[in-house]
Amino acid sequence: MNKPALSSLSALDGVASSVATSSWPAGLSACCRGGAANGDVTAKEASTNVAGLASVGLGPMRGVEGGRPAIDTQRIERAVREILAAIGEDPQRDGLLETPRRVAKAYAQMFCGLHDDASRHLGRVFQEATDDLVICRDIEFYTVCEHHLLPFFGRAHVAYKPDGKQVVGLSKLARTVDVFARRPQVQERLTAQIADALVEHVRPQGVIVILESQHLCMKMRGVEKQNAEMVTAAYRGCFEQASLERSDVIGMLTRSRGG
Ligand code: ZN
Repeated sequence: MNKPALSSLSALDGVASSVATSSWPAGLSACCRGGAANGDVTAKEASTNVAGLASVGLGPMRGVEGGRPAIDTQRIERAVREILAAIGEDPQRDGLLETPRRVAKAYAQMFCGLHDDASRHLGRVFQEATDDLVICRDIEFYTVCEHHLLPFFGRAHVAYKPDGKQVVGLSKLARTVDVFARRPQVQERLTAQIADALVEHVRPQGVIVILESQHLCMKMRGVEKQNAEMVTAAYRGCFEQASLERSDVIGMLTRSRGG
């Protein structure tokens, strides 16, 4: 299947719009250079189980000392037992005995972005006298829709035009996507947060972020559409207005990888 010409995304004028398209083949990663982000998260339950995160091997996480409560895995376990009982299951039967613990561990990983900050990854910019476009394509992401707590996942494409003074490290764009993806999300906000973080920390002339994803809450429940793909785009700085350059960049970000 050829993916639709992304010139159709020129229709995505404005901050974060969305269109549905048919899916197109996964492709190879293009070039990557760094990115940035900052996160704005409301503090949730004030419980402290920093060990819960550390035990998942998620690297440095901030607990309450960082101003945000860490993930309370024991509370998740209790809640999962409740849910199992509420759907008419027996939380004590053999196959389910360890489930609350497993779910808690999975949640600690899936939502660790709540306790991370993109500035941690974008803190290192490199002085580089270039204003040539930097593109990182096909950054896979997995996140959870905040309306149903069901996964949505896909690929993020990020482009920025440096200010002529600095760029960010190679892996930072992908890290930035993860910081925001590992939170309860809606795709529109995820797209905007990635773009805004780059603007804040890298101060480029312009940024384009495009996300393509599939939502399990559309597939498993509700309208049960199996092939709908959600595409969102955020334009910042010099890319806010439609232009030939912007169309070119969108084309590079989303062109078919010949799969
Ligand atoms: Zn949903």
